[in-house]
Amino acid sequence: MKKTYGTSAKCPKCGKQLYTSDIKGYSFVCKECDENFYTIEVQDCVADFWEINIPMQLQSFKVKLPNLQNISSKYKCDFLGYDDNAEMLDIGWKKGFPGSNILNQIVEEIENVLEKKEENIMKIKAKKYDDGCARGIQILVNDEIVASVDITRPDDEIRIISYKEDVDEPVNITSYNR
Ligand SMILES: [Zn+2]
Repeated sequence: MKKTYGTSAKCPKCGKQLYTSDIKGYSFVCKECDENFYTIEVQDCVADFWEINIPMQLQSFKVKLPNLQNISSKYKCDFLGYDDNAEMLDIGWKKGFPGSNILNQIVEEIENVLEKKEENIMKIKAKKYDDGCARGIQILVNDEIVASVDITRPDDEIRIISYKEDVDEPVNITSYNR
């Protein structure tokens, strides 16, 4: 573990926010007191919910959601969500944080998911086509047509056509020799 992440736990000494500990075996660290704590030491602190907040882009959250959901169910989390304003992933429990070893594992697994390059984030393919009126090449991103370059029949007009997700009609057609 290299990083620390904000949590809803409060320091038993100074009452400030605790972060996930970057020292294996401990659950939390107080940046104010520069001290590490076990889960049991902060269980008395009053919080509405027990969560870890991990900075993440919304796009990344969407792509990695299935993996994050696996972690959430594996560790019996009561919620998993994205905070648009803070741009953070929130993951947590109703009844309290798990012990330090489990907490270390969860943070590590989330970090692994975040670091893992999704090979299929951008699956780009080019496909030849000929629909009778025009022949050319379609460019597909994740199996969705995003653009095509074609030559029409019978007038040999060269066109670059762009498409938008969930829209059947092209959103833009640029012609080059007309
Ligand atoms: Zn403190």
